Amino acid sequence: MSKILHRTIHANLPLAVGGRGIEMFDADGKAYIDASGGAAVSCIGHGHPEVLAALHAQLDKLAYAHTGFFTTDIAERLADRLVADSPDGIDYVYLVSGGSEAMEAALKMARQYFVEKGEGRRRHIIARHQSYHGNTLGALAAGGNEWRRAQFRPLLVETHHVAPCYAYRGRLPAESEHQYGQRVANQLEAKILELGPHEVIAFVAETVVGATAGAVPPVNGYFKKIREICDRYGVLLILDEVMCGTGRTGTMHAFEQEGIVPDIMAIAKGLGGGYQPIGAVMLGRHIYDAFASGSGFFQHGHTYMGHSMAAAAGLAVQDIIREHRLLDNVREMGELLNRRLHERFDNHHHVGDIRGRGLFRAIEIVADRSDKSPFDPACKLNVAVKREAMARGLMVYPMGGTIDGVRGDHVLLAPPFIVNAGQVDTIVERLGDALDASIATRAR
Ligand code: PLP
Repeated sequence: MSKILHRTIHANLPLAVGGRGIEMFDADGKAYIDASGGAAVSCIGHGHPEVLAALHAQLDKLAYAHTGFFTTDIAERLADRLVADSPDGIDYVYLVSGGSEAMEAALKMARQYFVEKGEGRRRHIIARHQSYHGNTLGALAAGGNEWRRAQFRPLLVETHHVAPCYAYRGRLPAESEHQYGQRVANQLEAKILELGPHEVIAFVAETVVGATAGAVPPVNGYFKKIREICDRYGVLLILDEVMCGTGRTGTMHAFEQEGIVPDIMAIAKGLGGGYQPIGAVMLGRHIYDAFASGSGFFQHGHTYMGHSMAAAAGLAVQDIIREHRLLDNVREMGELLNRRLHERFDNHHHVGDIRGRGLFRAIEIVADRSDKSPFDPACKLNVAVKREAMARGLMVYPMGGTIDGVRGDHVLLAPPFIVNAGQVDTIVERLGDALDASIATRAR
């Protein structure tokens, strides 16, 4: 009997014993195509020899140095690499152990920035419905998915939420995409004015929404408008690229495709590709300078921040992405995946939307595509899709979500950046079969 408290009690999970490239293997010798990269983590696949060599070499030298005593060559090199691969305006790196930690640090950094500047009255965070920023209390408070928050509400700091940019469900028939984006962005301005422009710390958003809504990209012009509004009121823009960042959408950072730069951002999953737990906050010089010329101290910290093994994994993974030009493959295979999804599901009665960027794609499952009505949550269609996909040797990331009270199901695909054309075909074929089988089982 397992002594582990798994996320789902009695989940009866297969025992993973190995992984190579885009495949994972269980104890019975069954292979699974990792078409979700776990949870959009395994960006260069499993068992990469160059990462293993880098980890062994680092372990031989030094596994851990507390950041209160030392900096390390490996952490410095990772920070240099991340800044060198980022556009102007992203100048410093704060290393932590995962996405929630990165978001917690980002929120506290934003608050302390204003304290350092003598604007301590700024106290509000504004985020969006249908978003996920992590499971620790601060990050959970920022997240906008009520089913995750509901039972913990008494423990959450007050956070304000505005509409997400989710064209499939939010755009009015008479609106162009651009008009829709401007309309929802304007909700941020209205919220800032309602709360008092000098009392707002930051606006927080996933650049491309991940697990809560399924690879939802912003419409053109939305983030430009958001940036404008933040600048108008001196509000910081914090982007959460824990899932959509570090190359997943075809550029190092997803925001590069929006023509804006955030003040603070969070990355994690694809940073270490799953070889070690690692996350990071990246920030602009103006944020750093406020700390440097103020207290000289960011009042935060974790025992394992800047961990040498985690930094070694991060550096090796990022080197591989660059040296093997994997972002070219993300863009090329991303387009192919998109085409194949359209070929397979464009006329499928139960697929309402196909969306995403790069190798970050999703389908939204509906009961009836003509009115976008979702399946009854009691069907637990997302659970069935996962089961049917696993039975076919395919890992995908299905979720049920809620937007404005409407619950939809979606399936997220985030295969490793090394995926090839034949594997893309197999992923879509198995996904189609798994979806049809899930719907047929549900109807019975
Ligand atoms: N932010 C986003 C957008 C995420 O998708 C996640 C995890 O799924 C997190 C934050 C939290 O990251 P972690 O699970 O590493 O704490």
